[in-house]
Amino acid sequence: MTQKKLFYIETFGCQMNDRDSEIMAQLLTKASYQSTKDIDTADAIIVNTCSIRGKAEQKAYSLLGALRRRKKDNPALIIAATGCVAQQEGQKMLTRMPHVDLVIGPKQIYQLPELFERALSQPQGIVSIDKPKSFHIPPYLPSLNQGLPYKRFVTIMQGCNNFCTYCIVPYTRGREISRDVKDILAEVRYLAQGGVKEITLLGQNVNSYGNDQTIDQRTNFSSLLRQVAQIKGIKRLRFTTSNPKDLSDELMQCFADIEFLCPHFHLPVQSGSNSVLKKMNRKYTRESYLEKVDKLRLYRPDIALTTDIIVGFPGETDADFAETMELLERVRYHGAFSFKYSSRPPAKSCEFEETVSEDEKAKRLSILQKRQQEITLERNNEYVGSEMELMVEGESRAADGQWAGRSGSNHTVNFMSLEKFVPGQLVRVVITEGCQNSLRGKLVE
Ligand code: SF4
Repeated sequence: MTQKKLFYIETFGCQMNDRDSEIMAQLLTKASYQSTKDIDTADAIIVNTCSIRGKAEQKAYSLLGALRRRKKDNPALIIAATGCVAQQEGQKMLTRMPHVDLVIGPKQIYQLPELFERALSQPQGIVSIDKPKSFHIPPYLPSLNQGLPYKRFVTIMQGCNNFCTYCIVPYTRGREISRDVKDILAEVRYLAQGGVKEITLLGQNVNSYGNDQTIDQRTNFSSLLRQVAQIKGIKRLRFTTSNPKDLSDELMQCFADIEFLCPHFHLPVQSGSNSVLKKMNRKYTRESYLEKVDKLRLYRPDIALTTDIIVGFPGETDADFAETMELLERVRYHGAFSFKYSSRPPAKSCEFEETVSEDEKAKRLSILQKRQQEITLERNNEYVGSEMELMVEGESRAADGQWAGRSGSNHTVNFMSLEKFVPGQLVRVVITEGCQNSLRGKLVE
């Protein structure tokens, strides 16, 4: 029997990349390759790159650079770069790293086995990043043997049309393409039949799902959510990510109507200042954002809100930053991911004059993060005494004898029990303590 060739995938970046890596692994497995967790034994190495921040891009380049020696010792080794940096750099990546065999964009990953075959017979590198003429996300059923058995991400769309001025996604992932509703439902049904209980619908801007479909075939995001929620076996439903400008009343109504829709909403605000939001091309104002937050809380009073914030965007003044801090106090997010602005070519903001020094950015970030940490702790303590349903994730790393579960509000909750639990099991706890990054609870007997 011939031994199967081994492949290793290193993934950087977001859940979209995780999902693309899963698809690539499945395609290669079908094409008689076998996955390995040991990069040193691999016959093919795929580096799935991310370019959203400079650090992730550097890490991917540094791993690719370190493989130069391996390729020299073993010319038969296939080295492939995929993901956003590959899409963005294309031929430039091959010029900089001639030992790389394949540079493949996110829409070309479905051709991976064929590209591997070509790489084996073609000594010079191959770049495959051109937009296919009419791209349609192919039907896909994930492997039930890979990934968590109780919760999964399901991609519903790719790309983004919004062109926020700091963001490279429309350049690397292209314009919005919605997956066929029947393919999405088939995948969720398949996962549910395989024992998966929690589904997160995934896209760069899920609220605009369906906008690229013809009117007679269009299913909007709210309708998709309602259809997914009816699939037998699904106990929890989440989605990410949303641009606030596209958050409709119809979607908010889903939080009131769909029992399985988890009470957590990640609603990236980016800035509390209208002039900065305008320069970011976010297409909403501070006022319209706050109005949506208030409305959302009317539909679902227990909803936990999280956000993303950028500090030090070109032109951000002390007064603009103060408005972001005020917005933080007004919304009192349960958590926030915050970053210093950095320019990412070819995003439009690279043309803007940088007016905030690195020191000032660091100062603003530290002020914001310190205050948000306090608010998060206050928010976490507000849960004390309340009862929650958790999906058990496994034994807790916090202490022996403790278990960890995730609440609908997306909090990690640790609880003590001598009982044994299976990951994915649903249990009820009463919250006894709010900590900085988690909650503590007591099992309801
Ligand atoms: S909506 Fe999100 S993905 Fe789209 S351009 Fe803006 S930040 Fe990027």
